[in-house]
Amino acid sequence: MRTQVAITIDTEFSVAGAFADPERRRPIGEANVTCPVGGREQGLGFLLDTFARHGTSATFFVEALQTAWFGDEPMGAIVERILGAGQDVQLHLHPCWTAFRDPDWRSLLAGGHPDDNCDGRATAELVVLIEEGRAALQRMGASKPIALRTGNLRSDRNIYRAMAACGLPLASNVGLGLNRPHDPALRLRGGRHWIEGVMEVPVLSYGQLAIGSQPADRLFTITATSTAETEGLLWAAREAGAQTIVLLTHPFEFIKGDRLDPARQRVNRINQRRLERLCAFLADHDGEFESASFAQAARGWLAAPDEPEPRLHAPLLPVLGRMVENKANDLIPAL
Ligand SMILES: [Zn+2]
Repeated sequence: MRTQVAITIDTEFSVAGAFADPERRRPIGEANVTCPVGGREQGLGFLLDTFARHGTSATFFVEALQTAWFGDEPMGAIVERILGAGQDVQLHLHPCWTAFRDPDWRSLLAGGHPDDNCDGRATAELVVLIEEGRAALQRMGASKPIALRTGNLRSDRNIYRAMAACGLPLASNVGLGLNRPHDPALRLRGGRHWIEGVMEVPVLSYGQLAIGSQPADRLFTITATSTAETEGLLWAAREAGAQTIVLLTHPFEFIKGDRLDPARQRVNRINQRRLERLCAFLADHDGEFESASFAQAARGWLAAPDEPEPRLHAPLLPVLGRMVENKANDLIPAL
Protein backbone atom coordinates (compact mmCIF):
# COMPACT_ATOMS: atom_id res chain seq x y z
CA MET A 1 0.00 0.00 0.00
CA ARG A 2 1.33 3.42 -0.97
CA THR A 3 1.73 6.18 1.63
CA GLN A 4 -0.75 8.95 0.93
CA VAL A 5 0.55 12.51 0.99
CA ALA A 6 -2.28 15.04 1.17
CA ILE A 7 -1.06 18.50 0.18
CA THR A 8 -3.58 21.02 1.52
CA ILE A 9 -3.67 24.72 0.69
CA ASP A 10 -5.61 27.10 2.94
CA THR A 11 -6.97 29.55 0.39
CA GLU A 12 -8.14 32.72 2.03
CA PHE A 13 -8.41 36.48 1.84
CA SER A 14 -6.83 38.65 4.53
CA VAL A 15 -8.41 41.07 7.00
CA ALA A 16 -5.04 42.83 6.64
CA GLY A 17 -5.24 44.90 9.79
CA ALA A 18 -8.76 46.28 9.16
CA PHE A 19 -9.82 45.37 12.70
CA ALA A 20 -6.73 47.01 14.22
CA ASP A 21 -6.93 50.15 12.06
CA PRO A 22 -10.40 50.33 10.47
CA GLU A 23 -9.89 53.84 9.11
CA ARG A 24 -6.77 53.15 7.07
CA ARG A 25 -6.68 49.40 6.42
CA ARG A 26 -8.93 47.41 4.13
CA PRO A 27 -9.11 43.64 3.65
CA ILE A 28 -7.01 42.22 0.80
CA GLY A 29 -8.88 39.93 -1.58
CA GLU A 30 -7.69 38.21 -4.75
CA ALA A 31 -4.05 39.39 -4.37
CA ASN A 32 -3.76 37.40 -1.12
CA VAL A 33 -4.32 34.23 -3.17
CA THR A 34 -2.83 35.05 -6.57
CA CYS A 35 0.23 36.79 -5.01
CA PRO A 36 1.42 38.68 -8.12
CA VAL A 37 5.09 39.69 -8.31
CA GLY A 38 6.39 41.41 -11.44
CA GLY A 39 3.21 40.61 -13.36
CA ARG A 40 3.27 36.86 -12.60
CA GLU A 41 1.16 34.89 -10.17
CA GLN A 42 3.54 33.42 -7.63
CA GLY A 43 0.76 32.06 -5.39
CA LEU A 44 -2.23 30.30 -6.98
CA GLY A 45 -0.80 30.32 -10.52
CA PHE A 46 2.50 28.85 -9.33
CA LEU A 47 0.69 26.16 -7.32
CA LEU A 48 -1.64 25.07 -10.13
CA ASP A 49 1.22 25.03 -12.70
CA THR A 50 3.47 23.01 -10.39
CA PHE A 51 0.75 20.46 -9.63
CA ALA A 52 -0.12 20.14 -13.33
CA ARG A 53 3.53 19.63 -14.29
CA HIS A 54 4.04 16.79 -11.81
CA GLY A 55 0.54 15.26 -11.89
CA THR A 56 -0.02 16.14 -8.21
CA SER A 57 -3.47 16.01 -6.60
CA ALA A 58 -4.13 18.54 -3.84
CA THR A 59 -6.96 19.94 -1.72
CA PHE A 60 -7.66 23.66 -1.53
CA PHE A 61 -9.51 24.52 1.69
CA VAL A 62 -11.33 27.66 0.53
CA GLU A 63 -12.44 30.22 3.12
CA ALA A 64 -16.09 31.05 2.55
CA LEU A 65 -17.16 33.50 5.28
CA GLN A 66 -15.11 36.33 3.68
CA THR A 67 -18.15 36.73 1.40
CA ALA A 68 -19.50 39.00 4.17
CA TRP A 69 -17.01 41.63 2.93
CA PHE A 70 -16.23 40.64 -0.66
CA GLY A 71 -19.44 38.99 -1.91
CA ASP A 72 -19.21 35.77 -3.94
CA GLU A 73 -17.42 36.98 -7.05
CA PRO A 74 -13.67 37.26 -6.25
CA MET A 75 -13.33 33.88 -4.53
CA GLY A 76 -15.80 32.41 -7.03
CA ALA A 77 -13.34 33.16 -9.85
CA ILE A 78 -10.59 31.43 -7.84
CA VAL A 79 -12.75 28.38 -7.14
CA GLU A 80 -13.51 28.13 -10.86
CA ARG A 81 -9.78 28.08 -11.67
CA ILE A 82 -8.99 25.45 -9.01
CA LEU A 83 -11.79 23.17 -10.22
CA GLY A 84 -10.84 23.85 -13.84
CA ALA A 85 -7.33 22.59 -13.01
CA GLY A 86 -8.85 19.34 -11.73
CA GLN A 87 -8.03 20.01 -8.08
CA ASP A 88 -10.22 19.50 -5.00
CA VAL A 89 -12.10 22.31 -3.20
CA GLN A 90 -13.21 21.88 0.42
CA LEU A 91 -14.42 24.25 3.17
CA HIS A 92 -12.30 26.55 5.36
CA LEU A 93 -13.90 28.86 7.95
CA HIS A 94 -12.62 32.02 9.65
CA PRO A 95 -15.57 33.27 11.72
CA CYS A 96 -14.05 36.76 12.19
CA TRP A 97 -15.35 37.75 8.73
CA THR A 98 -18.96 37.62 9.94
CA ALA A 99 -18.26 40.84 11.90
CA PHE A 100 -18.46 42.76 8.60
CA ARG A 101 -22.14 41.89 8.26
CA ASP A 102 -22.90 44.56 10.84
CA PRO A 103 -22.89 47.98 9.12
CA ASP A 104 -21.69 49.34 12.44
CA TRP A 105 -18.67 46.97 12.57
CA ARG A 106 -16.15 49.77 13.19
CA SER A 107 -17.72 50.93 16.43
CA LEU A 108 -18.13 47.34 17.67
CA LEU A 109 -14.33 46.94 17.58
CA ALA A 110 -14.11 49.01 20.76
CA GLY A 111 -15.24 45.84 22.56
CA GLY A 112 -12.26 43.88 21.17
CA HIS A 113 -11.44 42.13 17.91
CA PRO A 114 -13.99 39.61 16.59
CA ASP A 115 -13.42 36.00 17.69
CA ASP A 116 -11.81 34.13 14.80
CA ASN A 117 -11.81 30.70 16.43
CA CYS A 118 -14.36 27.97 15.90
CA ASP A 119 -13.70 26.35 19.27
CA GLY A 120 -15.45 27.57 22.41
CA ARG A 121 -18.79 27.96 20.60
CA ALA A 122 -22.13 26.21 21.03
CA THR A 123 -22.90 23.39 18.60
CA ALA A 124 -25.97 25.20 17.24
CA GLU A 125 -23.89 28.31 16.49
CA LEU A 126 -21.30 26.18 14.68
CA VAL A 127 -24.03 24.50 12.63
CA VAL A 128 -25.08 27.95 11.37
CA LEU A 129 -21.48 28.94 10.51
CA ILE A 130 -20.86 25.67 8.66
CA GLU A 131 -24.11 25.90 6.73
CA GLU A 132 -23.46 29.52 5.77
CA GLY A 133 -19.94 28.68 4.60
CA ARG A 134 -21.07 25.61 2.72
CA ALA A 135 -23.86 27.55 0.97
CA ALA A 136 -21.37 30.27 -0.05
CA LEU A 137 -18.92 27.70 -1.42
CA GLN A 138 -21.68 26.08 -3.49
CA ARG A 139 -22.80 29.49 -4.81
CA MET A 140 -19.18 29.90 -5.97
CA GLY A 141 -19.51 26.76 -8.06
CA ALA A 142 -18.01 24.09 -5.79
CA SER A 143 -19.86 20.84 -5.26
CA LYS A 144 -21.11 20.06 -1.74
CA PRO A 145 -17.99 19.94 0.45
CA ILE A 146 -17.24 16.79 2.43
CA ALA A 147 -14.35 18.19 4.51
CA LEU A 148 -13.76 21.15 6.82
CA ARG A 149 -10.64 22.87 8.07
CA THR A 150 -11.26 25.38 10.85
CA GLY A 151 -9.32 28.65 10.77
CA ASN A 152 -6.17 28.68 12.93
CA LEU A 153 -6.43 24.87 13.29
CA ARG A 154 -8.73 25.07 16.31
CA SER A 155 -10.70 22.09 17.52
CA ASP A 156 -13.08 21.02 20.23
CA ARG A 157 -15.83 18.40 20.43
CA ASN A 158 -18.66 20.81 19.58
CA ILE A 159 -17.04 21.42 16.18
CA TYR A 160 -17.21 17.69 15.36
CA ARG A 161 -20.77 17.45 16.73
CA ALA A 162 -21.81 20.34 14.48
CA MET A 163 -20.04 18.76 11.51
CA ALA A 164 -21.86 15.47 12.12
CA ALA A 165 -25.18 17.33 12.35
CA CYS A 166 -24.40 19.00 8.99
CA GLY A 167 -23.38 15.73 7.32
CA LEU A 168 -19.77 16.84 6.86
CA PRO A 169 -17.81 13.60 7.41
CA LEU A 170 -14.12 14.66 7.15
CA ALA A 171 -12.09 17.14 9.20
CA SER A 172 -8.55 18.44 9.20
CA ASN A 173 -8.84 20.78 12.17
CA VAL A 174 -5.88 19.64 14.27
CA GLY A 175 -2.28 20.81 13.94
CA LEU A 176 -0.52 20.33 17.23
CA GLY A 177 2.54 22.32 16.15
CA LEU A 178 0.32 25.39 15.79
CA ASN A 179 -2.37 24.92 18.43
CA ARG A 180 -2.81 22.54 21.39
CA PRO A 181 -6.50 21.71 21.93
CA HIS A 182 -7.76 21.88 25.53
CA ASP A 183 -9.10 18.34 25.16
CA PRO A 184 -6.09 15.99 25.52
CA ALA A 185 -7.80 13.42 23.28
CA LEU A 186 -7.59 15.92 20.40
CA ARG A 187 -3.84 16.46 20.70
CA LEU A 188 -3.04 14.41 17.63
CA ARG A 189 0.14 14.48 15.55
CA GLY A 190 -1.29 12.71 12.52
CA GLY A 191 -3.05 9.47 11.60
CA ARG A 192 -6.84 9.33 11.21
CA HIS A 193 -9.30 9.44 14.10
CA TRP A 194 -13.08 9.09 14.52
CA ILE A 195 -14.32 11.90 16.77
CA GLU A 196 -18.04 12.38 17.46
CA GLY A 197 -18.86 10.57 14.22
CA VAL A 198 -16.42 12.60 12.07
CA MET A 199 -13.06 11.42 10.69
CA GLU A 200 -10.28 13.83 11.72
CA VAL A 201 -7.13 13.74 9.57
CA PRO A 202 -4.69 16.12 11.31
CA VAL A 203 -1.93 18.13 9.69
CA LEU A 204 1.26 16.26 10.57
CA SER A 205 3.23 17.50 13.55
CA TYR A 206 6.68 16.03 13.97
CA GLY A 207 9.31 16.12 16.64
CA GLN A 208 12.59 17.92 16.48
CA LEU A 209 15.41 18.18 18.95
CA ALA A 210 14.68 21.06 21.30
CA ILE A 211 17.11 23.71 20.09
CA GLY A 212 16.86 27.11 21.78
CA SER A 213 13.24 28.21 22.18
CA GLN A 214 11.78 26.09 19.38
CA PRO A 215 8.76 24.05 20.45
CA ALA A 216 9.08 20.28 20.36
CA ASP A 217 6.16 19.78 17.93
CA ARG A 218 6.67 21.29 14.50
CA LEU A 219 3.88 21.65 11.97
CA PHE A 220 4.56 20.13 8.53
CA THR A 221 4.40 23.16 6.22
CA ILE A 222 6.42 24.34 3.24
CA THR A 223 7.79 27.30 5.21
CA ALA A 224 8.69 25.24 8.28
CA THR A 225 10.21 22.20 6.61
CA SER A 226 13.14 21.99 4.20
CA THR A 227 13.36 19.52 1.33
CA ALA A 228 15.85 17.30 3.16
CA GLU A 229 13.62 17.21 6.25
CA THR A 230 10.52 16.52 4.14
CA GLU A 231 12.12 13.59 2.34
CA GLY A 232 13.50 12.25 5.63
CA LEU A 233 10.05 12.53 7.22
CA LEU A 234 8.28 10.83 4.32
CA TRP A 235 10.67 7.86 4.33
CA ALA A 236 10.36 7.65 8.14
CA ALA A 237 6.56 7.73 7.80
CA ARG A 238 6.69 4.87 5.30
CA GLU A 239 9.06 2.92 7.55
CA ALA A 240 6.65 3.42 10.48
CA GLY A 241 3.71 2.16 8.41
CA ALA A 242 1.90 5.53 8.43
CA GLN A 243 -0.83 5.52 5.79
CA THR A 244 -1.62 9.22 5.49
CA ILE A 245 0.52 12.35 5.88
CA VAL A 246 -1.07 15.83 5.64
CA LEU A 247 0.97 18.92 4.74
CA LEU A 248 -0.35 22.49 5.07
CA THR A 249 0.59 25.46 2.92
CA HIS A 250 -0.88 28.79 1.77
CA PRO A 251 -0.50 30.65 -1.55
CA PHE A 252 1.29 33.51 0.22
CA GLU A 253 4.08 31.19 1.42
CA PHE A 254 5.51 31.49 -2.09
CA ILE A 255 6.14 35.22 -1.85
CA LYS A 256 7.89 37.20 0.85
CA GLY A 257 8.35 40.81 1.88
CA ASP A 258 5.72 43.28 3.07
CA ARG A 259 2.34 41.54 2.81
CA LEU A 260 0.51 44.88 2.90
CA ASP A 261 2.55 46.49 0.12
CA PRO A 262 2.55 44.61 -3.24
CA ALA A 263 5.45 46.76 -4.51
CA ARG A 264 7.68 45.31 -1.79
CA GLN A 265 6.86 41.66 -2.32
CA ARG A 266 9.35 39.21 -3.80
CA VAL A 267 9.24 35.64 -5.05
CA ASN A 268 10.04 33.19 -2.24
CA ARG A 269 12.32 31.02 -4.33
CA ILE A 270 13.33 28.71 -1.50
CA ASN A 271 9.70 27.85 -0.71
CA GLN A 272 8.83 27.49 -4.40
CA ARG A 273 11.75 25.09 -4.81
CA ARG A 274 10.57 23.09 -1.77
CA LEU A 275 7.11 22.57 -3.31
CA GLU A 276 8.62 21.71 -6.72
CA ARG A 277 10.92 19.17 -5.10
CA LEU A 278 8.08 17.63 -3.07
CA CYS A 279 5.89 17.19 -6.15
CA ALA A 280 8.84 15.78 -8.12
CA PHE A 281 9.67 13.40 -5.23
CA LEU A 282 6.10 12.06 -5.16
CA ALA A 283 6.16 11.54 -8.94
CA ASP A 284 9.62 9.91 -8.86
CA HIS A 285 8.61 7.51 -6.05
CA ASP A 286 5.12 6.61 -7.16
CA GLY A 287 5.63 3.00 -6.14
CA GLU A 288 5.88 4.08 -2.51
CA PHE A 289 3.96 7.37 -2.30
CA GLU A 290 0.90 8.97 -3.88
CA SER A 291 -0.49 12.47 -3.71
CA ALA A 292 -4.11 12.23 -2.58
CA SER A 293 -6.82 14.87 -2.28
CA PHE A 294 -9.43 14.61 0.46
CA ALA A 295 -12.09 13.94 -2.20
CA GLN A 296 -10.05 11.07 -3.68
CA ALA A 297 -9.19 9.53 -0.32
CA ALA A 298 -12.59 10.03 1.37
CA ARG A 299 -14.12 6.68 0.53
CA GLY A 300 -11.16 4.69 1.90
CA TRP A 301 -10.82 6.84 5.00
CA LEU A 302 -14.52 6.68 5.86
CA ALA A 303 -14.59 2.91 5.51
CA ALA A 304 -11.63 2.42 7.85
CA PRO A 305 -11.11 2.45 11.61
CA ASP A 306 -8.71 4.81 13.39
CA GLU A 307 -5.13 4.91 12.21
CA PRO A 308 -2.71 5.72 15.06
CA GLU A 309 -0.68 8.92 15.05
CA PRO A 310 2.90 8.40 13.87
CA ARG A 311 5.68 9.70 16.12
CA LEU A 312 8.06 11.09 13.54
CA HIS A 313 11.26 13.02 14.10
CA ALA A 314 13.17 15.15 11.65
CA PRO A 315 16.79 14.00 11.39
CA LEU A 316 19.22 16.39 13.06
CA LEU A 317 21.45 17.44 10.16
CA PRO A 318 18.59 18.52 7.87
CA VAL A 319 17.08 20.44 10.82
CA LEU A 320 20.29 22.41 11.24
CA GLY A 321 20.48 22.98 7.48
CA ARG A 322 16.90 24.24 7.41
CA MET A 323 17.55 26.66 10.29
CA VAL A 324 20.33 28.22 8.25
CA GLU A 325 18.29 28.18 5.03
CA ASN A 326 15.20 29.79 6.62
CA LYS A 327 17.29 32.46 8.34
CA ALA A 328 19.02 33.34 5.06
CA ASN A 329 15.64 33.39 3.30
CA ASP A 330 14.34 35.92 5.84
CA LEU A 331 17.40 38.12 5.58
CA ILE A 332 18.21 38.07 1.86
CA PRO A 333 15.45 39.43 -0.42
CA ALA A 334 16.92 37.95 -3.63
CA LEU A 335 16.93 34.35 -2.36
ZN1 LIG B 1 -6.97 30.10 7.45
